Amino acid sequence: AEERERYRERTPNSAEMAGDLRELVPAGVCSTFRAFEPHPMHAERAEGTSIHDVDGTEYLDFALNNGTQLVGHTHPELSEAAIEQIGEGTLYTRPSRLIEYAAEPLIERWDAIDQVRFTNSGTESVMHATRLARAYTGREKIIRMEGAYHGAHDPALVSSMPPLEKAGAATDPNAVKESQGIPDGVPEDILLAHYNDADSVERLLREHATEVAAILVEPACLNLGLVEPENGFLQRLRELADEYNVVLLFDEVKTGVKLAPGGGAEYYGVQPDLVALAKAIGGGYPVGAFGGRRELMELIEADLREGVATGMAHYGTYNGNPLALRAVGVTLREILDSAAYDHVTRLAERLAEGYRDVIEDAGLDAQVKTAGSQGIIHFTDEPIRTFRDWEHVDETLHEAYWVGMVNRGVVPHPHDASQQWTLSVQHTAEEVDDHVAAFADVADGIA
Ligand code: PLP
Repeated sequence: AEERERYRERTPNSAEMAGDLRELVPAGVCSTFRAFEPHPMHAERAEGTSIHDVDGTEYLDFALNNGTQLVGHTHPELSEAAIEQIGEGTLYTRPSRLIEYAAEPLIERWDAIDQVRFTNSGTESVMHATRLARAYTGREKIIRMEGAYHGAHDPALVSSMPPLEKAGAATDPNAVKESQGIPDGVPEDILLAHYNDADSVERLLREHATEVAAILVEPACLNLGLVEPENGFLQRLRELADEYNVVLLFDEVKTGVKLAPGGGAEYYGVQPDLVALAKAIGGGYPVGAFGGRRELMELIEADLREGVATGMAHYGTYNGNPLALRAVGVTLREILDSAAYDHVTRLAERLAEGYRDVIEDAGLDAQVKTAGSQGIIHFTDEPIRTFRDWEHVDETLHEAYWVGMVNRGVVPHPHDASQQWTLSVQHTAEEVDDHVAAFADVADGIA
């Protein structure tokens, strides 16, 4: 309560603006995740590793727009290229050389990707990749992991973070609609399994052998904190997909290019059939992509007979717009080289080590995990391997920690216990140490 009061005192302009904006846009925000009590701090500008709010405070930023900016804010090379591109046109709605510039690095990074198509968001990428899996198999049901977020389209808002009291028995989870307006038929095509439990996937495949189009999974669950695959979970999914002839679809919207150059597929050594991408591939510009084996991608047909696509339809005015393609090309070709990955991994490990020392000194019941550029603190000693383990996490304590960090000028990660920090190519060891020092101060207060 004390930290929250301090937050209110530090953010009067944000409070006022929140009130004004609520009149104009529902909840005062443009994506409902961004609303929280008492009010989010409102951004004035961002640069490098900082974000400035409308109350004149500069924060050291490790949230980086839900981890989208592995390159940090306003990376000079990217900004320069974008400004140049604005001068050359931001929309062509026709092919250009920039397609090759952006597509090649994705194809090089993922063994599974022979061809890609560009979209404008992660939601679009997952939605189209799912449609492609259905088109390819001629089946409709999708096996998904309970508690995994895959975007804002109708089927993705089924059991992405269901209230535990509605989730049903772990052996037979309920498909819970998480928004009004989703048709009743939507959950019928979602079969829920548990992350890190390949047997739960196999049971569904056995039961629905001829109905399943795809297994959709994040290689590491980055909307449940940082839950990594254990005991060959992804390898088992690969084998099961082959055995039952279903598409293995990796949602790498968050893991892609952040865990390793070739995302979770490279990091964990398992290649899917299809990959959905967005976020960090564009360094902060709105872009997504989905790609995969040629055999599947070839189903995306340009041939319109009587106005109906003979293959899988994929349209969009802004798809592959030159600004987005330029951003992808510069980010992947010019900025995220192997030295960049060494840098962010080293800093992520330094931050995790710093947190672990503080946790031990303060005697907190908490654990820290790290992978690639990512990391998280969970306020529990219990292992978090799957959504059902989430009941052990002390979210109230996490909230106190988050607000306490913000009050000390550090945004440790996006505002939710399920979200992780991102180290960018622009962060320095000194900034990591400042982050740890702020945590030491907060830990004293909450231990
Ligand atoms: N898939 C995953 C794993 C995500 O984390 C997100 C967004 O956070 C999405 C899909 C949706 O991406 P977008 O917000 O760009 O639509």
